[in-house]
Amino acid sequence: MAGGNVGHGVVVDLSQGFRWIAPDWSRRALWAGASATWAELTEAGRPFGLRLPTDPSSGAFATSGGMVATNAAGPRSVRCGSVRNWVEGIEIISADGEARRIERGAGSGERFLLSPDQRRLVEARFPKTRKNSAGYALDRFAASGDELDLLIGSEGTLAIVTAVEWRLEPIPADAAGVALGFDGLERLADAVPYLVALNPSAVELLDRTLLDFVRDAGATTLPDGLECLLLVEFERETAVAARGVVGDAVRGLRDQTALVATAVDRSGLEALWAVRRLASPALARLPETRRSLQVIEDGCVPLERLGEYIAGIRAASGRRGVPVAIFGHAGDGHVHVNALPDVTTPGWCEALGGLYGDAAELLLALGGTPSGEHGVGRLRAGLLERFYGSDVMTLFRDLKQTYDPRVIMNPGVIIPPPDWTPLADLKVGREVMQIPEDIAHRLREVERTAGWATPKLELASPNP
Ligand SMILES: Cc1cc2nc3c(=O)[nH]c(=O)nc-3n(C[C@H](O)[C@H](O)[C@H](O)COP(=O)(O)OP(=O)(O)OC[C@H]3O[C@@H](n4cnc5c(N)ncnc54)[C@H](O)[C@@H]3O)c2cc1C
Repeated sequence: MAGGNVGHGVVVDLSQGFRWIAPDWSRRALWAGASATWAELTEAGRPFGLRLPTDPSSGAFATSGGMVATNAAGPRSVRCGSVRNWVEGIEIISADGEARRIERGAGSGERFLLSPDQRRLVEARFPKTRKNSAGYALDRFAASGDELDLLIGSEGTLAIVTAVEWRLEPIPADAAGVALGFDGLERLADAVPYLVALNPSAVELLDRTLLDFVRDAGATTLPDGLECLLLVEFERETAVAARGVVGDAVRGLRDQTALVATAVDRSGLEALWAVRRLASPALARLPETRRSLQVIEDGCVPLERLGEYIAGIRAASGRRGVPVAIFGHAGDGHVHVNALPDVTTPGWCEALGGLYGDAAELLLALGGTPSGEHGVGRLRAGLLERFYGSDVMTLFRDLKQTYDPRVIMNPGVIIPPPDWTPLADLKVGREVMQIPEDIAHRLREVERTAGWATPKLELASPNP
């Protein structure tokens, strides 16, 4: 997402030989090779009533190694957190070629330590957001003392993850939910914390900017005038409990909502959430001149600032003349923003750069982080110093130096190069690298059909 896996160096391909799963159902755990996907783990656990509760929307192709590397999250993170909470151990290959296992609770082996002053610095400088995948998780390391917390979210810059031990949870027996429409963004400031206090398993947001695309594609009968829609899921051990809490949600927000539609079971929820699934096809039907670019797509703010963040992004989008579609994980104060510039308009790239800068300023002002779950990759590496300050950045560099003194592990990610510019390697624009026509065409198809699981080397084969 953030250009973390597209550098100029050697690509390490783990697709062969790392796609195994070794379950231990009695411990509700399993070891998985680095390229076993979220979907494969889910499939393995389902007959035993178990699952990895963190559920990235990219689960069909997100690998165990990639999820650990980015500290991935998903709609259900509002209740279960990011994957960090579910990793019991990992196996790695270090920069000097050593293979070793790192387990939860095993400490850091004194490889890297924080002094009391450094702990205070970390406490003061890290954002108070519910999610954060920007930079090394020194806050989590300070709390646990576990080397594992340094490696989770390190985006391939400290070591290569070859296997992961996942802790699984029993799948709750029942679920119910509600779709709530609001006619003003300011209502989110009270509504979202109220819903989060009811212990939901998901609180997802579709902003007006996205609802308009879905409506224009003729895909929904939602009424006009909604500023945003919240899709809320509650999982409980009984149907009565699940339906009861939906009632609490509806009653508690009665004066605030412009639309209420409830679902009493999992199949009802499927129907209610169909509007979210219509978003990708609607965006894929954009005219050929308009591209959906994920360059400010991962900002996360403290829960009570979410309405301000969305309003600020909308205003910046209007100022810069770059339309956006906003959606995502409202319950964590975290939304995805797809920028949709017309790439045939002169100056579109500069306008996009302006929007990138505006979004960073906004996140700084609101106490946010530039990445809630995708990582900073190459796209956001150069922002870290502004968010954390130079002293924390020095700690990040010390950590990198400890694990990878020759800077051979994913160079340019997290620690930016001296000549860093954020939009240097976009897939469209004047300076884009020329690739053969047939491969470019197939890549465009992947984009249009959201076929991200397609192995990229297949695109270059004569008969894909
Ligand atoms: C349509 C779409 C939807 C998405 N939805 C979500 C979502 O809901 N939640 C979410 O968190 N993310 C989401 N993502 C982003 C991304 O898919 C996830 O972060 C995913 O977990 C990354 O795993 P991957 O296997 O795709 O890794 P890649 O994207 O290939 O790599 C991600 C980073 O991890 C590093 N890496 C990969 N494997 C290893 C390894 N074995 N060892 C060390 N480093 C490694 C790479 O170098 C890179 O820096 C989405 C992406 C897309 C395209």
